[in-house]
Amino acid sequence: MSALKTPALAAAEAPRVPVRRGACPSLAAPMATGDGLLVRLRPQAPGLSPAGWMTMAGLARRTGNGLLEVTARGNLQIRGLTAESAAPLAEGLQAAGIETRTGTAIEVPPLSGLDPSETADATELAEAIRQGIAGHVPQLALAPKLAITVNGGGCFNLSTASADIRLDAVKAEGGVLWRLALAGDAGSAKPVALLPEEAAAARVMELLRALSQRGGHARGRDIAPDIEGSGDGAGPEAGLPAPVRPAGVIRSGALLVLALRLAYGRIHADELEALMAGLQRLGATEIRLAPDHALLVLGLTEETVEAAAALAGAQGLITSPSDPAHFISACPGTGFCAAARINTRQLAECLISAASAAEPGVLDGSCRVHVSGCSKGCAHPLAAALTVTGTEQGAAIVLGGRADSRPDLQLSPQRLETVLPRLQRGIELNRQPGQTAQHVLGASGAAILAMAGAERA
Ligand code: SF4
Repeated sequence: MSALKTPALAAAEAPRVPVRRGACPSLAAPMATGDGLLVRLRPQAPGLSPAGWMTMAGLARRTGNGLLEVTARGNLQIRGLTAESAAPLAEGLQAAGIETRTGTAIEVPPLSGLDPSETADATELAEAIRQGIAGHVPQLALAPKLAITVNGGGCFNLSTASADIRLDAVKAEGGVLWRLALAGDAGSAKPVALLPEEAAAARVMELLRALSQRGGHARGRDIAPDIEGSGDGAGPEAGLPAPVRPAGVIRSGALLVLALRLAYGRIHADELEALMAGLQRLGATEIRLAPDHALLVLGLTEETVEAAAALAGAQGLITSPSDPAHFISACPGTGFCAAARINTRQLAECLISAASAAEPGVLDGSCRVHVSGCSKGCAHPLAAALTVTGTEQGAAIVLGGRADSRPDLQLSPQRLETVLPRLQRGIELNRQPGQTAQHVLGASGAAILAMAGAERA
């Protein structure tokens, strides 16, 4: 993987913007982070042309610190803006004809309408819900982080994405029905009803009104106990397939897609520009954002797709579903974020170099590893099997917790490059046949960590 270019830190001149809990950073209301302001964008069009992405890269460099991210839910983020540069970013997007959505997030699978393996095209139903919200009188008061998922299925289906309100397409006798459910992923959400498409948007609007009546902060889980569930076959569909890991060449019927996962969820504008220029030369017509920090390239042919994958690999993108970097979340770290106390990317690479296909250590795909520049934990706000965090005292390692959890081991940042490979080795030494790293850490993580962290003569 190529190294990211280090931009000038914007944090020193970052304005004081209050941290808004429970809100999403938008163009109108960016969020303060350790490297300036962060803006999250949801382009209206399902994808942009390579030229559109080059424009986006130029804007990220001109108005931010050059770092772009694709989030776990497939949103685009531009980092390192200042109070003065947020407006030029909005103007630049408008001038380029890139319109973005605001308001309640309504997610559909990224290949909706194109994927021959999807159960139903979710696009129209999602649009009907959008229009229902936009035209509702009086205006609905909905929680800023409320998520509605309309999951038509297919390769990159949204079965594992959690949502406040979800509609999952299910095959039924004579066609397709939509399973309406509350608060969870396709397997865990509370079933409400099994509906034909023409009735689905209206039922979603009923639930949104119930949320709105609770005062603008209510989430799906808050109303789930009061909503009567349906017993008419609306339970979780057995064997709902998980989405394909977005890395490499994906074929679905006649559709050919190159899926590229951004290493640690981010890319520098220079790399993005070089990637898009190369993809354009190879005939790519459209690149879509996708969940799990990915881009999906359309328009390639059997003759050009391998060259495009090689080009993306050279720019540091992940093109193999077995790449161990899939299992590490890392924030930008030192050199990019003023709050960072450790070089997150270097430490992630240190863990990867201590892994092999035969002995992957913690990177066997059974669990998540999080490397965080500070206790804020931007890259993975949840608990991870192994978290490495920069702290005021130096660095910390947490087993089964978050970046701000009580450390299981405190050490200097310099020692991490010795301790992490030892930890990898310790996991392999303790692994019984058939055991995953998750098992090993659960059973003997504390002892392995103590051994790895012991000062040796
Ligand atoms: S977690 Fe990382 S990106 Fe977020 S504030 Fe801390 S160092 Fe910066």
